[in-house]
Amino acid sequence: MIATAVHPRLMRVGGGAVAELADVLKTFGLRRPLVVTDPFMVSSGLVRRCLDPLEAAGIAADVFSDTVPEPTDTVVEAGVARLEGRGYDCLIGFGGGSPIDTAKAMAILAHGRAAGAGQRMRDFKVPVAADAAGLPVIAVPTTAGTGSEATRFTVITDTETDEKMLIAGLGALPLAAIVDYQLTFSVPQRTTADTGIDSLTHALEAYVSKRANPHADSLALSAMHLIGRHLRPAYHQPDNAMAREAMMLGAMQAGLAFSNSSVALVHGMSRPIGAHFHVPHGLSNAMLLPAVTEFGLNDALPRYAEAARAMGVATREDSDSLAGSRLLEELRALNQELGVPTPKDYGIGDNRWEGLLPLMAKQALASGSPANNPRVPTEAEIIELYRRVYA
Ligand code: NAD
Repeated sequence: MIATAVHPRLMRVGGGAVAELADVLKTFGLRRPLVVTDPFMVSSGLVRRCLDPLEAAGIAADVFSDTVPEPTDTVVEAGVARLEGRGYDCLIGFGGGSPIDTAKAMAILAHGRAAGAGQRMRDFKVPVAADAAGLPVIAVPTTAGTGSEATRFTVITDTETDEKMLIAGLGALPLAAIVDYQLTFSVPQRTTADTGIDSLTHALEAYVSKRANPHADSLALSAMHLIGRHLRPAYHQPDNAMAREAMMLGAMQAGLAFSNSSVALVHGMSRPIGAHFHVPHGLSNAMLLPAVTEFGLNDALPRYAEAARAMGVATREDSDSLAGSRLLEELRALNQELGVPTPKDYGIGDNRWEGLLPLMAKQALASGSPANNPRVPTEAEIIELYRRVYA
């Protein structure tokens, strides 16, 4: 098998790295950034962590802070309109996955529009290869995390169809990433849980994917080792520097892992839940992870067993089938301890849930992600899985 490996050209990783943001820009000869972030980053003052080092280096940065959680095509279009005539030479995505994904999508759409056509975000969704970007993106994550700082993906909701579109290609791969765990101390407990399970899902799905390869495997195993040991401490003790650092590194490695392999059925089924019911991405993954893992367990048992060993919930002496059941126990226990609700407990009414299942199953399959799962589901099996996780 021949695998293609893609990574940002430069990654600066470690506590305090954000102070070197201007240095990273200068390495690439960039001088006129637009910082893409969210309103909370501005109102809380966190955006100063990004702006101060730029100012100190004499780099004048503007800020676009109209991004929304689970970004939409309309926000991306507003961001692209903001670029016109201002001479920016790069975008800095500063925040969780939502601002970073918005910056990536702005860069892709800006290129499409520069080519002359009145293109929309949906013109770039998979299976189109979104390989070109109008501007380079420097990603600075403040959650641990989506791994978006290191992936060749962006996820944008089409507001006309309520579809969470997967957009994939080199155009979505940041030029550089600054991965500084010290930016995550202020992440609220719920978001620490949701983003942490998101990164665990990335690593596990990358590892069991039909597109797994040795390069992505090594990143996925390392990510599962880190996340398996440090997610609970990061959740219970927000100031635990060792846990925050491990989670940030694990999230980045998990991002690299799935970007060089793929995600699978959990993500395929998760995006429609996010789009129709506005459940944060990591949380909808968490709602699905135990049941979807159980669904595919026996079709890739040695891989799932190895994942359990990497996470530290099974040993080398355990048989694959024992390790597989330990993995399921751990995923259920993690959801319990991290307070992950079922869709019903989250407040989603059973009539709306049931009524949307056929459409959600179609959208899940259309995203292509379920085809990478060890056990590829039919539409009816996806509906059955949605029913199983509901209550
Ligand atoms: P987010 O960016 O939506 O942020 C969630 C909340 O946390 C926001 O209110 C934000 O202001 C707050 N927050 C972020 N950092 C903080 C900090 N340091 N301190 C205090 N509050 C902070 O959430 P997310 O889970 O990071 O990103 C989710 C998005 O990422 C979704 O749209 C999802 O589809 C996307 N995603 C993309 C990829 C990819 O490869 N491109 C992978 C996974 C997920």
